[in-house]
Parts: sequence; C-alpha cells; structure tokens
Amino acid sequence: MPTPKYQKGDKVMGRWPGSSLYYEVKVLGFDATSRLYTVIYKDGTELELREQDVMSLTGFQTRSRSRSRSPGRRRSRSRSPGRSTRRSSSRTASTAITEIAPSSRRDSRLKDTLEVRLSPLKSEAKVEKDPEKNQGRYNLRRRKDEGAVTTTEANSGLQEEEKNDVFAVPPNIPSAPLDFGGKMGAYFWLLFLPSWVLFLLLQISQEDPSLANFPPTLPPLATFWDAQALGFVLLWILFQALLYIVPVGKLSEGVPLRSGKRLKYRTNGFFAIVVSAVVVAAAVHQGVDLTYIHSYFLQLATASLLISVLLSIYLYIRSCYAGPDQLALGGNSGSVVYDFFKGRELNPRIKDFDLKFFCEMRPGLIGWCLINFAMALAEMKQQGLDAPSYPMILVNLFQLLYVVDGLWNEEAILTTMDLMHDGFGFMLAFGDLVWVPFTYTLQAYYLVGHPNPVSLPLLTVIILLKLTGFYIFRKSNSEKNAFRRNPSDPKLSYLKTIPTATGKSLLVSGWWGMVRHPNYLGDLIMALAWSLPCGFSHLLPWYYMIYFIILLLHRDSRDMSECRRKYGSAWEEYCRTVRYRIIPRVY
Ligand code: NDP
Repeated sequence: MPTPKYQKGDKVMGRWPGSSLYYEVKVLGFDATSRLYTVIYKDGTELELREQDVMSLTGFQTRSRSRSRSPGRRRSRSRSPGRSTRRSSSRTASTAITEIAPSSRRDSRLKDTLEVRLSPLKSEAKVEKDPEKNQGRYNLRRRKDEGAVTTTEANSGLQEEEKNDVFAVPPNIPSAPLDFGGKMGAYFWLLFLPSWVLFLLLQISQEDPSLANFPPTLPPLATFWDAQALGFVLLWILFQALLYIVPVGKLSEGVPLRSGKRLKYRTNGFFAIVVSAVVVAAAVHQGVDLTYIHSYFLQLATASLLISVLLSIYLYIRSCYAGPDQLALGGNSGSVVYDFFKGRELNPRIKDFDLKFFCEMRPGLIGWCLINFAMALAEMKQQGLDAPSYPMILVNLFQLLYVVDGLWNEEAILTTMDLMHDGFGFMLAFGDLVWVPFTYTLQAYYLVGHPNPVSLPLLTVIILLKLTGFYIFRKSNSEKNAFRRNPSDPKLSYLKTIPTATGKSLLVSGWWGMVRHPNYLGDLIMALAWSLPCGFSHLLPWYYMIYFIILLLHRDSRDMSECRRKYGSAWEEYCRTVRYRIIPRVY
C-alpha cells in the first residue's frame, strides 16, 4: 500500500474547494482507499481534499510576513475592540484562514491584517477554469456538522498547543457591507422607528383612525409618561427573566460560532408561556383589570422604548470590552451611531443568561399575547359583550398559535439570521421590546373600538388561509432547521443538496427547492389571515401586512447578498436551480 506523502500533524497548503486559493492547513489523516486527506483549516473547518490539492509549504513563496504569528501577539491585538481591522476579502469560513492570493497586491491596507501572503510557484492558469466543476470532486462534509462538534465544554479539553495555534481565532473582520442605508441610515432609523411607533399608536387611538385624520393631534408630552406603566413593564420583563432561568426544558446548542464553539440555550419558552398564562388567568380571576393595558397603551410603549434605549446603551458599552471573536461581522463599522443601531456583540451574555435570545423570544413575544388578551377584555367591556367578537377571537387565536409555535420550536430560532449573524443592539432590542408587542397588536387594538362582523363563509376562508400559511411556514422552517442541525440526518436523506466551499450544503429540493424562501411565503399568507378579520374600512389593521411585505422583501435581499458572499458560485448555482424567491412562478 503506498504511503501518504504527508503525515498526521504536518502543516501543508490545501486548496480551498472551488477556488484557486491555498491556505495553510494541518493534516489530520489520510484515507488510502479514497486517497483523500482530512485536513483542518485555521478556523476549525475540516474537509477532505484530493491529494493533488495538498501541497507542501515549500511549494509556495512567501511574499511578505508583516506580522508576528506568535499566538500571544495575536491575542493581545485581538483584545483591542476599538481597533477596526479592515479586510476586503470574502467573509466565509475562509476569513479565519491565512490568505494566499496573487492578487493581494491590490489593497495596500491589507498589508496590516494579512499575516502571511504567499503565491503558488506554479502558474494560476493551470488551475481548473471552472471551479464549479471541481466541487463534485471534493468531499465537502464539514465534519463538525456531523456531530463531532466543539461545545463550550468540549473546548476546554483541547490541547493547549492546538488552542494557541491551529484553533486560534483571528481578529474580527468587519467586512460586512453597511446595511440600512449605512451610517446616515442609522441616524434616520434611530429617530424614525420610535417616532413611527408612537405615531401609529396615536393614530389608531382616534375614534376615526382613517388617513383623513392624519396627522393625529399631538397630546401634551406628559401624556406619554406614566411611572406605573414603567413599573408594569419592568415587572413583566423580570417575571419573564425569572421563568427563563428556571432549569426546566432542553439545553439546546446554537450553530457553531466562528471560534468553533457552540453556545447552549435554555429553550423553555413553551413552559414560560404556559406559566405566564396561568399567572395572568389567576390575576384576572383575582380582579386585576387587564384593560389597563388598553387604556395605557401609549404609556406602556413609551416605557418599553425607554428600556430598549437603556438596554442598547448597556449593550454598546459592554461590546467595547468584548473580544473580536465575540463581535458580529455586521456591527463593526467604526461609526458609533451605526454600530449602536446595528449591534456589535453577537451573543451578549451575563453568565449563561443570553440577552439576545431572551429578548427575542420572551418579554415581547409573550407580551404580544398578553396585550391581545387584554384587548379582547377591553372589547367586551367597551362594547358590553359577554364574549369577544369572532374577529377578535380569530386575531387572538391566530397570533397565539404563531407565538406558541415559535416557543414550542424555540430551538429553530438558533438558525435564523437574527441569532446567527446580527449583533445585539438597538435594532433588535427595540424590535423585540417595542416593535413586536406594540405594532403587531394593532389589529386587536383596532377591533376594540371598531367592530367588524364576519360572515361564516368568510370566517372559514380566513381559517383555511391561516392553516395553509402555517403549514408552509412550519414545514419549511423545520426542514431547514433539521438539516442545519444534522445534515446527515437519515430522515432528510431524500433531499438533494449542493455542496459549498464552506463545508455547509444548500438544500435544492423539498421546500427549499420550491422557492428560496418558502418560510416567508407561509408567513405572508398568515399575515393576510390576521388582517382579514378587521375588514377593509381602514388601512391601519393592514399595517402589519404592508410592513411585513416590505420587511421580508428587504430581508430576502439582505439574505441573498449574505449568502452570495458566503457561498459564491454554489449560491449562484442554487439560484439558477431555484429561480423564484418567495412566490412560485411569480416572484
Ligand atoms: P431564514 O430562516 O430563511 O434563514 C436564512 C438562512 O437560511 C440563510 O442565511 C442561510 O443560512 C440558510 N439558507 C438559505 N437557503 C438555504 C438552503 N437552500 N438550504 C439550507 N440553508 C439555507 O431567515 P430569517 O431568519 O429571515 O427567517 C426565519 C423565520 O422567521 C421565517 O419564517 C420568517 O418569515 C420569520 N420572521 C418573522 C418575522 C416577524 O416579525 N414575524 C421577522 C423576521 C423573520 P446558513 O446557510 O448560514 O445556514
């Protein structure tokens, strides 16, 4: 049996699949039958490479070595959060890899950040012209995805030498392009979003909330403030925090971070909503008047806004002390305002208490249901009803189902953009604590003072619509979530996939082969079902639907560019195969 050229532990250059770039890798093993080397890149990605894509270090010429590679030095540099390291290269898994690109001369600024620049002695022209063709010839299994994951705990078992060398996390690379209109956009959104929410609440609280009554009369400033409302919101958040730390429910692992670690999350959201429901029901039974929420809606929103601003300031300050590997790629522009808005730290935690996860899933989301319930009670009181109207029941049940489903499948949020990519800053804090509870409840608020009788056939159509949307939404999200959690899950073996250079694959059949965002399609159908019970007399109950279309279109294009950058040619191939974005044959 021929002996392999390189032995376990050798440091060699490995070609990044689908590209002409070579990176320094460490050999972990060799399979004599398939003649594939298992190698590990500096970011922890493990791949199997063909023999001819593995070369000795001496086959490359060092152009410059602008920085010491001593781990100690790298660490001391990485601890400086204010330092903005710019690199214009792709920010896929390969960002964590020493780059070897003949074209690196282009940008002299790169000199500072690239540790080693090498170019193959052989002409690049010899490299296959069609990188996509190559992809089939690699085994792109990312072994970490197959269960041999590095958890926070498991990491502590690593050899010290490995921690400091091969597994060392390079400095953060703030290479994500600015979103939301960039720095000027951040100023705009910071002022616009709170004003918009307050405007909506003032507009809908009018007897006739139609556009004819635009703009609403501005009440005295003192009207916006109520200390009791602030106390009520704080109590609610503390109550939810208490439920979050109760050691009930599963400890789920998030997706691997850039460091290779996986954080653990207490996914007891369903428990939290059940306990909340019991406590609220007991309170109502004891005579607590929940219609207070309807009467003090504006003041409760202002109090939540204040809390979200204070939280964002805290998050920004603490992000200045976070290591580069703890920062999100998108929130490190160097502009204080943009970064404050977008969020810098990816997973801010106080011990095991994950602030982003908690805010995304608990006070606002469960608060949404509490507010809807309060609106049903307010409707009964205001209109002298013994029971809520059918439209109110539908809106309550539909949205309750959405929230309960989200909490039942809480683990699924761990593979969404918010959790995986976005830093925790004003955008998410405000979204979670103000936007969701106070604008998603507008339909219920509207129905309190604007009855809209619905015929039985229309009721049936609305229910069917909701169920269809929910089915598409749930099935597609679960399919991707299951695949991302365990790509080799035998239950998913019937699905076709495209390998990508990062080691992750893309689904090209099943729900994700139908359109590129089947989950958005389901969500939009559900949004339609939420607005229909309010009728067509006013625009405001349709606000959610209109906003949601804009949100999801923007989110889709944000995700498209993110995936294009991450997956390159594989993403292009996915888009050629799955041509429509959200609605089959339409869009
Ligand atoms: P997705 O859950 O759609 O996540 C997008 C990510 O999925 C991509 O970045 C990529 O990440 C991965 N992906 C994309 N295509 C494929 C594929 N073909 N195969 C495998 N993985 C793929 O996005 P969101 O986080 O925006 O949405 C999650 C859910 O939340 C949706 O149902 C959405 O409707 C809902 N939502 C609801 C909101 C509301 O206010 N009600 C607001 C926002 C979202 P990677 O490859 O890195 O895994």
